Amino acid sequence: MAYAKSRKRYRIKYKNVAILLAILLIIILLISRGCSALFSKKDKPSPNNTLASEDSEEADPNDLTSQMTTDPTLQTSYYFQSVKVTDADLGVGDLVLVNNNIKFLGSVSEDSLDVVREKKNQAYSVSNYTVKVQPHVMEALNRMLLDFYNATGNDGVMVRAGFRTLEYQQELYDEELASTGQDYSTLVALPGYSEHHTGLAVDFTTYLNNVYKDFDGTGDYEWIMENCYKYGFVNRYPSGKESLTLIDNEPWHFRYVGVAHATAMHNLDYCLEEYIDYLKNYTILNGLFMITTDDGSQYISYYTPKSNGDYTDIFLPEINHETKELYPYEISGNNVDGWIVTFLYKEGNGVIAPTAPETEPEVTTAPEDGGNAQEADNNEEE
Ligand SMILES: [Zn+2]
Repeated sequence: MAYAKSRKRYRIKYKNVAILLAILLIIILLISRGCSALFSKKDKPSPNNTLASEDSEEADPNDLTSQMTTDPTLQTSYYFQSVKVTDADLGVGDLVLVNNNIKFLGSVSEDSLDVVREKKNQAYSVSNYTVKVQPHVMEALNRMLLDFYNATGNDGVMVRAGFRTLEYQQELYDEELASTGQDYSTLVALPGYSEHHTGLAVDFTTYLNNVYKDFDGTGDYEWIMENCYKYGFVNRYPSGKESLTLIDNEPWHFRYVGVAHATAMHNLDYCLEEYIDYLKNYTILNGLFMITTDDGSQYISYYTPKSNGDYTDIFLPEINHETKELYPYEISGNNVDGWIVTFLYKEGNGVIAPTAPETEPEVTTAPEDGGNAQEADNNEEE
């Protein structure tokens, strides 16, 4: 009996121990689960955990739970924040595409523009006080034409057109039709469809030794055709691309798109129509486009299509996830169906063109008042 009793007692004890063990096991399991959840949120670089994921119904790059990488062209190398843009922003930025089929959606306030005559340096001339461009274009223009002068000793470039109002474009268009007797023009763009409405475009002519000549990009001026991309300009209507640009070859018309994109267009030999299309291959989900400029800077760019809603989320990468600091970035609408983000991934050494030592250009006696604008306006166009 005693055996039986004690055996029973032991059995009960074993039962208690088993229950205790089971409870302990459950507790251990719960604790370890909790820990791993904490770790995955705090210590592991999981791209699940940033601001942007809170308010977006669109594809959120931070939602992709793949491993963080160090390839700068993959979205998994970054944490992102988002900003909202609306369709009204489609026409804002250096990459707006404007041509005979695509009306400029933006509007540029004349007051925000620089008068070239007031801001220019002595390395070139300007036809009159009405020629205006956006301030960042003014700065690039001054640098390019000073470097051109220092490289060639030629100060014959004359800027003869910049920003145009709708009214002025209408005048040019009407004059062109009257002079050709045609119903339409392949040289002058319809009002609203000219790049000159953006404040990002300039037309050159030349004035040297009291002689006006069309700017044809030959001789000394070849330097500008070859080097303009280093300053952010592209020759907008090159020969061979007429079927895409819908404008005849115009060596005198330059468009500012920024150094990174001008470099990429130069390397790819794309006109703006081709390039804006090409950039659509690069999205946060598909992979990002890296551009290395001549000074060794690395820029990364990608396209975000406009959403069907009231706004579109544009995702911007962080340099530092703790401080939320962003890479220096620019967002430009493409003036059609989306936005292009460009950010500076790595800064270069700032050296773009070896030029002769800077000398003070001689001041020429080029007439820079309205009186000779007529002569300078030898090729009114788009
Ligand atoms: Zn032009």
